[in-house]
Amino acid sequence: MKLLEFEAKDILKVRGVPVPPNGGVIKKTVQLTAALKRAGQAPWVLKAQVLAGGRGKAGGIKLAKTPKEAKEFAKVMLGMDLATHQTHGQAIKVRELLIEGGVKIERELYFSVVLDRKAAAPTIIASAQGGMEIESLAVEHPESVIRMSVDPNVGLRDFAARRLAFALDVPMDRVGEFCRVAKVLVQSFIELDCSLLEINPLILTPKGVMALDAKIIIDDSALFRHPELAKTADHEASALEVEAKKADISYVGLDGSIGCMVNGAGLAMGTMDTIALAGGSPANFLDVGGGADEERVTRALKIILKDKKVRAILINIFGGIVKCDMIASGVVAALRKIKLQVPLVVRLQGTNVEKGQEILAKSGIPIIQADDLWTAAQKAVEAVK
Ligand code: ADP
Ligand code: MG
Repeated sequence: MKLLEFEAKDILKVRGVPVPPNGGVIKKTVQLTAALKRAGQAPWVLKAQVLAGGRGKAGGIKLAKTPKEAKEFAKVMLGMDLATHQTHGQAIKVRELLIEGGVKIERELYFSVVLDRKAAAPTIIASAQGGMEIESLAVEHPESVIRMSVDPNVGLRDFAARRLAFALDVPMDRVGEFCRVAKVLVQSFIELDCSLLEINPLILTPKGVMALDAKIIIDDSALFRHPELAKTADHEASALEVEAKKADISYVGLDGSIGCMVNGAGLAMGTMDTIALAGGSPANFLDVGGGADEERVTRALKIILKDKKVRAILINIFGGIVKCDMIASGVVAALRKIKLQVPLVVRLQGTNVEKGQEILAKSGIPIIQADDLWTAAQKAVEAVK
């Protein structure tokens, strides 16, 4: 899960990382005056809150010297389509702006922690030349990029932090503060189960160091260990994905027209492949899990039917943990509650499959049955046409 800059900064601030004076996040220009006041004296910085770096060069970061100037920027930025070198040719709509106090920058460093799978350890990547050109720096001057792996059981040790400070040419009077902050950043990476924690730039101010930007990605598989974070919205998830998550259903929306309901992730992948092989395209990946009972089937069907791209549904369920007759009853009960507007193909296999097929056939609901996956996929593709 990717966090927005202001969310990442809020977390780091609590942990002891200095950040610029925070005026809060605004969604409308009428909120600007109060935000400027909270951020303190001029100048101020207006920052588009989107999940992409490279905002500075693309017009997503503006320095305002007067309230009037700030207002003009806010008007332009709120609602603008922002395309940076990290958005892969697409533009992202700017809905929120972070208002911050403008900070005096002495030098910009690059500091990040990533998971290095080869070293099997969190690894610091740092450079004395941070700021907006880090990607080209890594290509043109790889020697100026420092890498340092950290043992996750002990964190960044004092001597290693100092070695890093010297390598980054941090002035003597700020080495102590740099080491403290570097240790907090590494510790935050470990404790929050991050896959990335990137501060670009980590700046030297006349008095100390400060995180001017912050990017955090949390490993989704570890979110259960961070209930407080799991509450923050997943900005990349679609409305349907959020709904599915609440119902504890694994669902990923795709571009195709055949809605799939399958039990088991492997079978779901196989079903999607088979649909593609039959000349169709899946509208989603959906794993209802082992216990495909009436309630879960109903919820999953509702989610699939809310997707306007769906023109046929393929239910492919293997009765291993649950029996086919129970699944069939679940499907029928669900379809009595939900009005089906598209053709439905069902393929059941496993324990009590004959009983299950009979329940479907006798339900009076126009269900297209298939004995095997290949036939089921072909029938679904046919139904879309
Ligand atoms: P991005 O990485 O998306 O371009 P940053 O938050 O790193 O966005 O901002 C880009 C540049 O804007 C920074 O390198 C810094 O020079 C400047 N900047 C950002 N925030 C502030 C601030 N609060 N005060 C002064 N300058 C800032
Ligand atoms: Mg940045």
